[in-house]
Amino acid sequence: MIVYLDLDRTIFKTNDSEKILLKIAELYPELDASQLEKDRTTFHETVGDLYYWDLGRQLSTYGLDAEEVFTELAGTDLADGRLEYEGAATLISSLQSADVDVRVLTFGPDDYQRFKASLCPSLRSLAVTTTLSPKSELFEASEEECWLVDDKPIGNELPGNVSFVQVSLEGQQYQQLDWPVFYSLTDVKEFFDDVMH
Ligand SMILES: [Mg+2]
Repeated sequence: MIVYLDLDRTIFKTNDSEKILLKIAELYPELDASQLEKDRTTFHETVGDLYYWDLGRQLSTYGLDAEEVFTELAGTDLADGRLEYEGAATLISSLQSADVDVRVLTFGPDDYQRFKASLCPSLRSLAVTTTLSPKSELFEASEEECWLVDDKPIGNELPGNVSFVQVSLEGQQYQQLDWPVFYSLTDVKEFFDDVMH
């Protein structure tokens, strides 16, 4: 069994990205966190109805080597698990101990997505795939039987080889969807415990 986990707002607390900017400003005093925040919308890119933030490109416009900055940040306390949702470690270890192949599948620029994954201790042993295409297209091409856990309500867009589970970890409530929705990663773990037994 294969389970793909989305990264942003599924495992990674994307809404806390300000912490990344504050840390950058701490390491590079010539940069100001509120200016970084103001500039960021210039580096928002859209693909259809999806958007992502290209922090790597933003950093390079200040004359920084983005890869170096990401490596440096990954050596700080940002990587101690504070940017993972509660229950991520238990969900992943529980799936792995049941021989599930757990992988990360995330939309956005490769360098920034891998950087965010590197801040999550629970994800360190997992394969990370990044894409700038809608996930549905990747699944259509692969045809493998798998599960996807994601915060975006995309169950209707996915091909039949994918079983979908939605998470909503920032308080938004959903009703009457055609797939299960969970409001904590602990509940996702219990769901898969049931699926596997
Ligand atoms: Mg997401």
